[in-house]
Amino acid sequence: AKSLGRGQVQIFNDSMQKKMVGAAVLETDIQNGMRNNEFELYYQPIFEIKNNKVKGFEALVRWHHPEKGLVLPNNFITAAEDSGQILQLDLHLLKQAAKQISQWQSEYKTHFTITVNVSSRHFSSLDFVSFIKNLYQIYKLKTGSLCIEITESGLIENLALAKEIIEGLQSLGVRLYLDDFGTGYSALGYLHQLPIHVLKIDKSFIDNLQNDNNPLVDAILSLAKSLKLEVVAEGIETQEQLDILKQTSCNYGQGYLKAKPLRALDAAILIGKNI
Ligand code: C2E
Ligand code: CA
Ligand code: CA
Ligand code: CA
Repeated sequence: AKSLGRGQVQIFNDSMQKKMVGAAVLETDIQNGMRNNEFELYYQPIFEIKNNKVKGFEALVRWHHPEKGLVLPNNFITAAEDSGQILQLDLHLLKQAAKQISQWQSEYKTHFTITVNVSSRHFSSLDFVSFIKNLYQIYKLKTGSLCIEITESGLIENLALAKEIIEGLQSLGVRLYLDDFGTGYSALGYLHQLPIHVLKIDKSFIDNLQNDNNPLVDAILSLAKSLKLEVVAEGIETQEQLDILKQTSCNYGQGYLKAKPLRALDAAILIGKNI
């Protein structure tokens, strides 16, 4: 209970209390989960639209929770952002991805790219660049094999620093993918100020793809073209959506139509293949 003065007292109600306890339990669980290696990256193929050739994968985390079983990221990423644990979790997963790349590099000759999602919070310190640089050195990663996906929120808050960090990554050959493009409050002005390489068109736009009237997708594609950015279409679920995209300048696609996020062993078989 906390005192509001003059004898008034506000008592936390049950639901406030439950929320706080829940958050605290989740925080401990995430900490234990990292220590016990309960977080596993799954890999969803990203393929060339024109010929369905797999050019790489997006890494997506899954949590094998000792009591809850398989837990999807939407159930813990926000909590990890709130507690600040996302910084540690992202680094933990980047390392896992780097190990996976180094293993695949020695087994497969084809070039491939793995993109890892990270919180834009990393873009407030150059330490992030050093961390990635270390991964490239320790795991002898080929140039551009490990790339970063980030949403635009947060990037814009400190444009000068974000620019410096992205340039640092770029010097390592790390390309930056701008995730969920078109959602949120895009301040387009920053796009040509930051050395971003790839736009990922959000699934909500792909859901609405129809015969020949796709003003929003067309607008994003022509924006990308004039800024010389590559484009990935996210969440392709139907052949019709893919057929429409084949008529456009969209470079890459990703979605359940071709493959869901897969465990490493199942993903490996697809490297360099047509799906
Ligand atoms: P995102 O980065 O936008 O990832 C795309 C989400 O769409 C993934 O959900 C993916 O499994 C799902 N998806 C892909 N194709 C299709 C499709 O055709 N249909 C449908 N309905 N869904 C599709 P997921 O794996 O549950 O991840 C959710 C979000 O959690 C991600 O959204 C990303 O923001 C975050 N996330 C996932 N892994 C990580 C991670 O390792 N680190 C961080 N910081 N965030 C992560
Ligand atoms: Ca993503
Ligand atoms: Ca996305
Ligand atoms: Ca998303």
